[in-house]
Order: sequence, then C-alpha cells, then structure tokens
Amino acid sequence: MFLGAGQPVLAAQIIASNTSISSDVGGVTLTLGLSDSTPFSVYTLDNPRRLLIDMGDTELENLPAGLGSEIPEVAALRHGLFQLGEARIVLDLSVPMVVHSAHSTRTPSGSEQIAIRLARASAAKFAANSANPDGNVWHRNQVEVEIEGQDGLPIIAIDAGHGGVDLGAQKDDVHEKTITLQFAEILRNTLLEDGRFRVVMTRTTDVFIPLGERVEIARRAGADAFISLHADVVTLGRARGTTVFSLSETSEDQEAITIATLENRADLVAGISAEGEDDQITQVLLQMAHRETDALSNRFADVLAESLWFQNDLEIKSRRMSAGFRVLRAPEIPSVLVELGFMSDASDLKKLQDPEWQLGMSEALRSALVTWLEVEAEMRGLLRN
Ligand SMILES: [Zn+2]
Repeated sequence: MFLGAGQPVLAAQIIASNTSISSDVGGVTLTLGLSDSTPFSVYTLDNPRRLLIDMGDTELENLPAGLGSEIPEVAALRHGLFQLGEARIVLDLSVPMVVHSAHSTRTPSGSEQIAIRLARASAAKFAANSANPDGNVWHRNQVEVEIEGQDGLPIIAIDAGHGGVDLGAQKDDVHEKTITLQFAEILRNTLLEDGRFRVVMTRTTDVFIPLGERVEIARRAGADAFISLHADVVTLGRARGTTVFSLSETSEDQEAITIATLENRADLVAGISAEGEDDQITQVLLQMAHRETDALSNRFADVLAESLWFQNDLEIKSRRMSAGFRVLRAPEIPSVLVELGFMSDASDLKKLQDPEWQLGMSEALRSALVTWLEVEAEMRGLLRN
C-alpha cells in the first residue's frame, strides 16, 4: 500500500492458501491472495506472448512453487522485485489470451484478493490488445475520481508530475515529485478560491501513477483541460524559466524532444513497461485521435504561454514548445505540460521552493486559465455566427 511521504510503507504479502490458477474452455482464472491491498496493473505483451502483473510494494516469496505448471495455457511463471517497492509476476502464455477482467476485493477475513480472468482470443486480437495501452487494466486503491468545486463549472485536471517510486528529477536532496505535488496543491486552492473552476487532481499523495492512468483520471472526470506540472533537470544546454509544452508527434526541437524523453521515462523508471506502445499502429491511431484535439491543445498552450509571458513581476521566461509527451495524449482534452522551472538552474531551484514565488506562479496560471476560458467562449461565439 502506498502511503504519504515520509511514512513507513508496509509491504503486502502473498497468502499462498488463497492463491490459485485454473483453466476451463473459456480461459484462465488466476487468484492472488494478499495480506493487504496494493495498487496493481495487468497487461499483456506480444513476442513472446506474456501476461504481466505489476504490483505496488508486495512480497512474493509466498507464491506457491509450481503455480501455473498444472495448466497447459501457462508455459512458465516467474516473479520478482524489479524496482524498489514494485513487484512483478510474468506468465508466459502458450495460447493467446486477453485480460477479460481484473479486480481486487476484500475477503470476509479482512485480507485482499486479486482476481484476474483471461479469455481465449485470436492471435490478432491478442496482438491488438497488447499493442494498445488502453487495452491494459490498471487498478489503484482510489478508483473514485474526486472533483472539487461547484457543479457546472469547467474542470481543470491538475497533474503533479512523477510520484512514489518515480522521484522525477533530483538536485541534491530535492525531488521533483515533491515540488510538483506542493505546487499542484497551491494551484488547486487558488483555482477553487477563484470560484470559476472545478478541479480534479491526478494525485494528492506521494504515489506512483502511470502516465496512461493520469490521462484516464482526467478523462473519467470529464476534464475540460489538463495541466501536467514538472520541474526538470536538464543536463544538455541551459534550460531555465517557465516553459509551456504541448504535444507534437513530429517535433524537431531538440530540447523539447530531450525533455519529452525524460518525462516519458516515468513509467519505465517505475517498472511499468511501455513496450509495444511505440508500435507503429499505436502511433497512427494516436495521431488520428489527436488531429482534432491538436488545435484545441495548441490554442490552450499558446494562451497560457502568452499570459505567463506578461507576468513580468514574476520574471517568468515563458516559452512555448512542443514534443511527443505520452502524458499529453488524451484525445478530446486540451493538454499542456508546464515546466514550472528547471531544478538544474540554481535561481529556478530557489524560486521553485519559495512559497511567495509558488503563490505568484499559481496566481499567474489562474489568470492565464481565465483568459483561456474567455478565448474559448469567443471562439464558440464566432462558430455560432
Ligand atoms: Zn518531470
């Protein structure tokens, strides 16, 4: 179970007596008994065909020896800790099967059980599901999306970059994941106090959330805009000041590409494999889904960057760049990634930790968002006439 920053994290244990695997004509059912709840994700990868179960801090030592060897659908099963606080079980599949369902429940005795149902599928369906990130199932403890603010107001999804096992950038003993969460909370308060927005947070604690899940939270909330907050360390060149990024699959800006590559590593850092996601078909599908949103996202990024530019008292060196960020790939939601500043720059690092600067920056973003609402209202008016 993931807890807040600084608190001890207790690992869940496998309960062997509640763990089993069985097969029938339709597929395979795998049940994992656990002493405590844990976030988990279940997905398949192709070439070779395998099922991956990634879990939060979980001790797998009690997993029954030979589990899976009794059924023909499973060629092999292996497991291990692959990152600090992250455990993985891999099943090599001898026949194509897709994840039909995966959920965790609390047993009457107070322990947890993860039930995974795999359904037999054609090789083509398996390949399609395994290449598509949306075909994966990711579960966290808090599945409910909490939207704050008055009904009917536009919803801003605030995404505090990184978290949990993914520390983000590091400078001395400062972690990007802490700076982004701190700022996300200030921004949330500023927007709620303004009274013109509702807010949904992708995380409110020091927890790891895969990039795809961050987008999913915004989507489930019906967010009108998505802002991913970061403060990276850039070793190449000298990046400083606030930078607003939007998605572009065909960026030629080397600095933007470097930063996008850094951000896209988040899932890999945390051990959630992104294998298959850069598959050609996925790229094409994503580009199609994005053609519509691109104009909205670009306008969103432009308005934000321009508004921030005018906040001279903040000494914001606002720039607008675009690159292929995975966290910005939400079809239908205008999305930007804001590098509040760069931890690699000494003066930026100081500002990022200064409460007064944080407040001023959240105020600047609030006012930029108000401008964006006005621009969008104007655009809708123009379209009507
Ligand atoms: Zn970052």
